[in-house]
Amino acid sequence: MNLQLPDEVCILDISYRVAVVDSIKEDDLVIGHVDHQSQTIRIKSDLSQAKAEQTLLHEVLHGVFNELGEYRIDEDERLVQSLAATLHQVGYRLPLREGV
Ligand SMILES: [Zn+2]
Repeated sequence: MNLQLPDEVCILDISYRVAVVDSIKEDDLVIGHVDHQSQTIRIKSDLSQAKAEQTLLHEVLHGVFNELGEYRIDEDERLVQSLAATLHQVGYRLPLREGV
């Protein structure tokens, strides 16, 4: 299944590339990851569309808190996931790039 995700997201004026990949780490439980150094978000390819959208929101929130210097919040997985799940549940989606 092809996931419909943006190729790029802008987090507080910083552009992050979004890559859909077959695996992220040896740990199969990892379904998304944000690399602040390379400004890349990776999302696992075998997720459902809804789970991929929610995971992207989750990684974007990590990016937001990191860019804000809110490192303790960035490391609070429960808070980040609660925000991502809530935003997704109320219908928030990241826009696809124009022309895609
Ligand atoms: Zn996380």
